Amino acid sequence: MPVDVNALCVTFLLFLNQQGVYENLDTCPPVRVIDVSSLQELACGGSDCPAKAFYNLDDKTIYLSNELDLENAVHKSILLHELVHYAQDVTGKWIHHDVSECRSYLMRELAAFKVQERYLLDNNIQHPVGRQLLMYRC
Ligand SMILES: [Zn+2]
Repeated sequence: MPVDVNALCVTFLLFLNQQGVYENLDTCPPVRVIDVSSLQELACGGSDCPAKAFYNLDDKTIYLSNELDLENAVHKSILLHELVHYAQDVTGKWIHHDVSECRSYLMRELAAFKVQERYLLDNNIQHPVGRQLLMYRC
């Protein structure tokens, strides 16, 4: 049975609200599953990039690669990560005006990875997803 991404998003929305990091959100953004080449086109302008998911500021939609296995908790948590970006956007935490754009970006990612790791730890999964940040460059 395919995973209902909208139901999954609502579950994550409740989890995110419980964390108390952002103002409580009532609704999930649209979540669309698309093929990996369309996703890479959207996230990184076409070239072969490692993106598996993307929150698009322009249409306020979360895009997930159809290569993600949404029965798998680590893959699933990527939707939560993108949901954090949505929360950052709609609660005015996207840009930190006191720092450079690059630092704003890294702070957004750090916050998203923290929530993602919290969820995984709550499910007894030790998977330091935030380590990817070490490879992020501005
Ligand atoms: Zn991110």
